[in-house]
Amino acid sequence: MYKSRYNLITPIDSENNAVFNPLSGAFDIADNETVKRFTDGKPLDDDEQEYWFTRGYFFGTAEEEQNYIEKRYNDFNEEVNKSEVQFVFVPTYSCNFSCGYCYQKGVDRSVAYPSHELIDNMVDYMVNFRKENKRDVYLTLFGGEPLQNKKENYDMMEYLVKKLTDNSIGFAVVTNAYNLTKYIKILEKGIIREIHISLDGDKEVHNKRRKTGQDANTFDAIMEGITKAVSLFIPINIRMIIDKETIETLPLLAERLDKAGFLDLPKTRFKTSLGRNYELINEYMKPGDLFTLDEMYRVYTDLLMKHPILKKLHIPSYFGISHMVDKGEMYIPDFDSCPAFKSEMAFDYSGGIYSCTASVGREDYKVGTFYPELYIDDQKTADWKKRSILTIPECKDCSVGVVCGGGCGVIAKQKNGTVLSPDCKPVKKVMDYGIQFYAEALTKIKST
Ligand code: SF4
Ligand code: SF4
Repeated sequence: MYKSRYNLITPIDSENNAVFNPLSGAFDIADNETVKRFTDGKPLDDDEQEYWFTRGYFFGTAEEEQNYIEKRYNDFNEEVNKSEVQFVFVPTYSCNFSCGYCYQKGVDRSVAYPSHELIDNMVDYMVNFRKENKRDVYLTLFGGEPLQNKKENYDMMEYLVKKLTDNSIGFAVVTNAYNLTKYIKILEKGIIREIHISLDGDKEVHNKRRKTGQDANTFDAIMEGITKAVSLFIPINIRMIIDKETIETLPLLAERLDKAGFLDLPKTRFKTSLGRNYELINEYMKPGDLFTLDEMYRVYTDLLMKHPILKKLHIPSYFGISHMVDKGEMYIPDFDSCPAFKSEMAFDYSGGIYSCTASVGREDYKVGTFYPELYIDDQKTADWKKRSILTIPECKDCSVGVVCGGGCGVIAKQKNGTVLSPDCKPVKKVMDYGIQFYAEALTKIKST
């Protein structure tokens, strides 16, 4: 009997354990004796052995597992090839806020207003890409701050939204939302998918950290924009920046958002995520305030247990454990968590093409231009395109490989000098927190 490299075990309580395999998607609850037999590879009888084989925990030989990995990799690629492609566009790197953690530091932040010609070239590229690859496309506006309170910027946005709409292309906006109210009239004319807004905790701490030169109360302006957008059925995605300064204010934020009625809306209209910006930053003002990824999940889970209102605000995915509990099945294996040049690429106001939001504007990551001329250096995109846990040597035998997907290509390159290298995450620890959080629900699954 050959044991799968992807078998994982997490104790739930003194008697029960979660036994699961993210490659096959199997998830079972087993008592301690069964786990002992499982770990030793000694099934009780033929029925148990058969069960372990059909669930993908064991194979006859290593070659059989390899064939199964290839089959699951093909399933994964099929899904990727059906998915939409995100084009990120940075119309300017300048911003009306000056947040300590902003990773756009180090790029040219002078104000820019892309010309109609540049926008035409970008949208033409997207239209051709959609036709040639038979995949849907959408644009995500990113910055700097794309919604600047300047006449030239309103004009540019008006033109961009019309051009996208004329070509049936939807768009999302990543914004600090300070000027959202002023932009709603322009945005609502297009096919708007989502407005993505970061909040640094509740009002007081947010205002302390996220201010413009003139206004120290940016929080109220942002709430006004969110309220307006929600009333027009524009989907909102709040990214809550989590660190030691903001975390304790989340119950207050949850109460505020709940009172406004946002937390009763369906996820298609209002959702939240936990955010850590720092991995991509060279300098952050207070490194002591940062959480590691697993710390963030642990501390947030503790808070979640103490303040039930947070269950309305956000329940983390715990790398697929929440999905497993809700839907009764695990996600399909993720062989590649970095969409760069497969499902994502980034353009900026200078006409440059880059891999994604993490590298946009950085000369050492530039692979070509879409304006004034279209040119892409295929050699520079080759490693990105082939990046997956099957091409990163360290990932090939990693037991959480198909959950982690190899991490972020930009972070990997920064750490190790090549995108074909790992960006490890404490995946198992985070899944363990999820299993602990859902302990009661999971033991009920066993008894049904
Ligand atoms: S390099 Fe990192 S930020 Fe960029 S697409 Fe890949 S995972 Fe995302
Ligand atoms: S990046 Fe690290 S944790 Fe992720 S799959 Fe590769 S080896 Fe495993």
